[in-house]
Amino acid sequence: MEIEKLFIKRMKELPSDATTPGHRLALKGGYIHQTGSGLYTYSPLGFKVLKNIEDIIRQELDAIGCQEMNMPIVSPLSLWKETGRENIDVLLKFKIRSGMDAVVNPTHEEIVTDYVRNVLQSYKQLPLSPSSLCLYQIQTKYRDELRARAGLIRCREFMMKDAYSFNISWEDLDSFYNIMLNAYHKIYKRLGLDNVIDILAPTGDMGGKISHEFQMISDIGEDTIYICSSCDYRANKEVLTDADAEDILICPKCGNKLKKLRGVEVGNIFQLGDKYTKSMGVSYLDQEGKKQTPIMGCYGIGVSRVFGCLLEQSCDESKAVFNLEVAPYKVHIISIGDEQAKTLANDLYNYLLSAGIETMIDTTDDRAGSKFANADLIGAPIRVIVSPKNIEHGVVEMKYSGLQKQYPDTFKIDEVKDKIIEIIKDNQG
Ligand SMILES: [Zn+2]
Repeated sequence: MEIEKLFIKRMKELPSDATTPGHRLALKGGYIHQTGSGLYTYSPLGFKVLKNIEDIIRQELDAIGCQEMNMPIVSPLSLWKETGRENIDVLLKFKIRSGMDAVVNPTHEEIVTDYVRNVLQSYKQLPLSPSSLCLYQIQTKYRDELRARAGLIRCREFMMKDAYSFNISWEDLDSFYNIMLNAYHKIYKRLGLDNVIDILAPTGDMGGKISHEFQMISDIGEDTIYICSSCDYRANKEVLTDADAEDILICPKCGNKLKKLRGVEVGNIFQLGDKYTKSMGVSYLDQEGKKQTPIMGCYGIGVSRVFGCLLEQSCDESKAVFNLEVAPYKVHIISIGDEQAKTLANDLYNYLLSAGIETMIDTTDDRAGSKFANADLIGAPIRVIVSPKNIEHGVVEMKYSGLQKQYPDTFKIDEVKDKIIEIIKDNQG
């Protein structure tokens, strides 16, 4: 992409409600545009990041045998009446012109359960873990939240990955739940999200037995979490409600003091049991031909919130840091000065494009300083600077961000193509 063609607006005057570094970076970099309160448009630049995040999640879920599908954004209110959830506060209800009472789905337990009751007949369709039946989608959700904050961290409309497993027993669900828990850690690691821990979470109005939240430790977080300094106990504040009044909380497992931290929830997993399958009448015939009710688990990742978190953990509000898998562009080429530099930059650009590498090129007549500032906002992990001074020495200048290893500051002109390909291969998942 030639930088002058990128159709984005880099906001200079930021609104007063943009208080977190990540929210400010999202607006300054032109990743998002606020269409309404808690409602964001992803620019061509922002949407690339979102799709890259989705792809990593998709690959890891497919790797543990999950099946992707797609469910409608709107559903009949009658489905929500079946489970008694027709009055949950984030549910946006309306009547369609033909008269049906409808909702904009804030989550899809009712909708996926309705699908499963139509398709499921035999235990043979519910293989044992690790081959469990797990259906997922990556889709827009709308929650009628009273308050939106921190840009992509808490929106009314957001992108979510929601997965639902159907198991023949609690033991089988337990086993698959742990597979999913491990897959989640793998996903956050690949996304380059640091400091994500799993903690025990309350099961709330979801019903069920066990739940974990994945929390990114961060000062901007609105959740309070407790971590034991001596053992592996970690929990959400709400799990510890009994001790709520006390200043110093004691670990229920080992008796030592708990440390208090703030976190942003980037995912959650629940063992739901038969709450939805029972109330919606899902059944299958077991080996003896007897009717049974499947046990359910559900697994969410806030895809757009992960994007917000990646911006929050970037160095500062003028510099986006992404790893090679997530970055909207892998390489950013900047030419400074004469036509010879431009020609060399274009030659490298065309080579990288033909090698299938997403590359940004800036051969505009802007000042070098403003070109570098724009490159900081776009956050390509590999930056190449072509200038007359460097060409004189037979080299190009290199800069890196978001990579695990160190690489040279310059490459010889005739080596740079191969070296960039090598670095990209070196950083592949
Ligand atoms: Zn402990």
